[in-house]
Amino acid sequence: MATRTLEATFESLSVNDERDPGESRLYQKQKSVVTTTQLSHNTSRPNLFKVALQSQNSATVTASVKLPSQAAQWKESALPASPGKKLAVSSRGSTDELSVVERKSASYVDQPLTPKQFHLGMFEIGRPLGKGKFGRVYLARERTSNFICALKVLYKSELQHGSGVEKQVRREIEIQSNLRHPNILKLYGHFHDSKRIFLILEFAGKGELYKHLRKENRFPEWKAAQYIAQMASALRYLHRKHVIHRDIKPENILMGIHGEIKISDFGWSVHAPNNRRATLCGTLDYLPPEMIKSGSKDNWYNEKVDLWSLGVLTYEFLVGEAPFEDTPIMTQKRIARADMQIPEWVSKEAKDLIKKLLVLDPEKRLPLEDVQTHPWIIKHCVKGERAANRERGSK
Ligand code: ATP
Ligand code: MG
Repeated sequence: MATRTLEATFESLSVNDERDPGESRLYQKQKSVVTTTQLSHNTSRPNLFKVALQSQNSATVTASVKLPSQAAQWKESALPASPGKKLAVSSRGSTDELSVVERKSASYVDQPLTPKQFHLGMFEIGRPLGKGKFGRVYLARERTSNFICALKVLYKSELQHGSGVEKQVRREIEIQSNLRHPNILKLYGHFHDSKRIFLILEFAGKGELYKHLRKENRFPEWKAAQYIAQMASALRYLHRKHVIHRDIKPENILMGIHGEIKISDFGWSVHAPNNRRATLCGTLDYLPPEMIKSGSKDNWYNEKVDLWSLGVLTYEFLVGEAPFEDTPIMTQKRIARADMQIPEWVSKEAKDLIKKLLVLDPEKRLPLEDVQTHPWIIKHCVKGERAANRERGSK
């Protein structure tokens, strides 16, 4: 695709917003718009902090609005860099150098909200956070507000080489910018220049969940249960909006500064207004049986695919490896038979949940609301402090 066409693609994105369940509205997104809030006045300078604030409080913004709290269910802890506070970062940009500066919310919310015309000059770029297939991600600070974010840079030339990649990025932007949930990584906005596309993302202070899992080998049950509860809450929100993630795995989960889960990577996700899709995507280990079956009619699937992946994830959190890990051919065969063994040291309740999610018939998998009230989840997630005490006790 010619650069010009690609640029045109990112000029206007049409998004199906389903904030009110059942009543979807189609509206035209302006360049870099992250919220539908109507603005009474405009000033010339956009301010990412306000955008973030808006995206947290998408309805009426008043002076009593609190600073954004990324995870309301997480109590303020002794940790520095609460996402509800403003961060200042030095230009050298190491996370160790982050210092916390609290600001009164009123000074932001009293100001008229601004249009979101972002450009690179507005950001001070810090250290690289990582590199993906197409993107490089940097810590960044928006100069006017000092708001810390992650800037994902995609080169248009690289996107044009991979077939369908541009569509994937477009999807990522369309879907992710309309999601507001404490366990889903926020996309505050996007902009582009002649060569690159920039995604302004919420900064996940603790990086990849995958790295934590590798470091710890496997998670204690209380921790796994808390992660799964957060996943279930985020997936429930997504499914309510008819978004299927389709690529749930530890590599696509980031962690916020309080250790809370942030689902990212919506490249494979899809709006599923027609309920059933038939594209093969995702990573083999996490693919549900209905997606790996060959044959044109059988591999139809719906949002229940994410329930299977949630079962795989629960297993992997507790055991340290995915349940069907094998040679590619064997993995496929074993998935098709739901052939897995749960080690006997996994608790009875956790086993029960895994078995109720890794069910061949998608319609018989445990629904997310039942995951949230499953005895294993209830046991470990009644109160954050209880789990923390348990950790202290069990170490
Ligand atoms: P792919 O191209 O297959 O999606 P990826 O997910 O690894 O690969 P990116 O999403 O571009 O690629 O991210 C690259 C890495 O940068 C991530 O693995 C993560 O370590 C880091 N990273 C990405 N986004 C953030 C963020 N918002 N906050 C902190 N770190 C991030
Ligand atoms: Mg990724």
